Amino acid sequence: MIKGNLLYEGKAKCVYETDNPNELLVYFKDDATAGNGAKHGTIQDKGIINNKISTYFFKLLKDRGIKTHFLETVSKREMLIRRLDMIKLEIIVRNIVAGSLVKRLGLPEGTPLAAPIIEYDYKSDELGDPMLNRWHIMALKLASIDEINEIEHISLSVNAIMRELLKAKNVELVDFKLEFGRDKDGTIFLADEISPDNCRFWDADTHEKLDKDRFRQDLGGVEEAYQEMLNRLTM
Ligand code: 5GP
Repeated sequence: MIKGNLLYEGKAKCVYETDNPNELLVYFKDDATAGNGAKHGTIQDKGIINNKISTYFFKLLKDRGIKTHFLETVSKREMLIRRLDMIKLEIIVRNIVAGSLVKRLGLPEGTPLAAPIIEYDYKSDELGDPMLNRWHIMALKLASIDEINEIEHISLSVNAIMRELLKAKNVELVDFKLEFGRDKDGTIFLADEISPDNCRFWDADTHEKLDKDRFRQDLGGVEEAYQEMLNRLTM
């Protein structure tokens, strides 16, 4: 595989073309942002840890029949992925009240939900990722109703698989954000990453935060939390 031109640089990742038109290379950076880019920082070795944690979850999900964009780990910070036409949506799955839901519903952080909640955000930095529902998604032609149904089905399966695995590691899966894309045939694949950057992980006993909320909320121990999550998954 030959690394080609930089195709896209995001807040936490760079994406490069390769000599195979159907494959891209993702480079995981240490850069961290919060509050839609208002807060900037670096989390040492985050890129290495997020590449490892994402690889771990993508392999787990593949073994459980979920189609993901992951192809192989290339280096400490690089992952080879399937090239997809990305759907401009963030799919958020919640099991426990935290983050923006605390403000929106006026419920205390940590309140368990009787069933998972699925929310959609429109991927738009300029607009601050506004929340959408299925009617917006269809009206804006971001995805068809069949695709929305499939995305919800996959997202709930991912939630069940990850919750079960994390329970054995004494970690609660509070909430997380997924992204999806289509290949040339229109098949939907899970894309992006699965890491403490886009999931909330709490120690099941102490509710200690083991994710990016430590950076967002200036709690300290950010690097240690990312490393702790990797250790729990792989040791
Ligand atoms: P909230 O809406 O509470 O801020 O976020 C819900 C969940 O989705 C959290 O696990 C959070 O990490 C994830 N999430 C929401 N928006 C984004 C985003 O723009 N980028 C990343 N990396 N994660 C997000």
